[in-house]
Order: sequence, then structure tokens, then C-alpha cells
Amino acid sequence: MTYATTAPTAEAPAAFDCPGNYQATAPSTLRCAKCNRPLAVKDAQRTPTGYVCPYYVKARIATFYTAGPKQYILAALIAFVLGVGVGLVLQFVGRIGFFALILTIFVGPAAGSLVAEAIRRVNGKDRGQHIWLVAAIAMVIGAAYFAVLPALFALLAGSPGFLFALIPIVGLAIAVTTLVARLRF
Ligand SMILES: [Zn+2]
Repeated sequence: MTYATTAPTAEAPAAFDCPGNYQATAPSTLRCAKCNRPLAVKDAQRTPTGYVCPYYVKARIATFYTAGPKQYILAALIAFVLGVGVGLVLQFVGRIGFFALILTIFVGPAAGSLVAEAIRRVNGKDRGQHIWLVAAIAMVIGAAYFAVLPALFALLAGSPGFLFALIPIVGLAIAVTTLVARLRF
């Protein structure tokens, strides 16, 4: 049941026709800033240019995120393959000894940025809403063998080197954080 109090484009012509033909479910004096349809307060989405209907937001997301399965698969592949390299480097750095943690604090963000940049270059303008998540998981899986497993074995063996084996995990956590930040914003 809808209560269109006035015709959607009675006095001002709409600048943009939001897809989906939004209908307010209750009488309202508020209007979508884009399509000028009456807009229920509960559905109103605030934007810098005024309140808009939910369909406008959906349309914007659809045009902003253009990545398809191909871009997701590429992102996963790149993150996995480079993740193996990141794991190797982190394991190597972790063995250096005293300065391992300090070095890791530099290597971690660099590795995350590198993977994010590689994905961006390959995928070009196609952005995906969840590519950051796919890439993060793929990188962790790729890096796990070199960066996570040694710590696990050291822990199971009750080795005193367990704490040092944690350094690559710290590095990987920093790398993933950087990757997510770069791909998400
Ligand atoms: Zn609208």
C-alpha cells in the first residue's frame, strides 16, 4: 500500500531518475534529491547533496563496483602467489635475530602495499566491493606455509624459539592490515 501524496515530478523536473521506482510507504514532504520522488523519512539516505532514496544508493554502488568474477579470481591469484613470496621473506627476516622485529615492522607494510598495488594494476579501473577480503584471505593462505607453520611447529614442540617464530606472524598481520586498507579505501 503506497500513499503518493503528490505526483513524483510535479513541480521540479528530476535531475536523475533513480532505478527501481521507489515509493514512499507513508505520506512525506521529504523528497529524493535525485529523482524527486516523495521519500519516507525512514528510507532517507543522507548524502552530501541531500537526502536520497535507497535506489539511488544502490545504483551508485552498482556503477562504482564494476569488478566481475574475473577480477576476483585475478586478485585471489595475485595475492596467493605474492603471499608465498611474502611468507618466505618474512620467515627470512624473522631469522635475522635481534633486529628481526624492527625490520618486520618495515617489511610488513611494504609487502601489503606491493600486493595491493599489483592487484590494482592488473584489475585497472574495475573495483570490487569485497576484493579486499578475497585478497586478504588468499595472501594469508599463500604466506601461511612460511610465516605461520614454523611458529605452530615450534609451539607444538615446546621450543624456546617459539616467541621468535611469532615475528613472521606479526609481519603478516601488518601486511594484511595494509593490504586491506589499500584496497578498501
Ligand atoms: Zn531517488
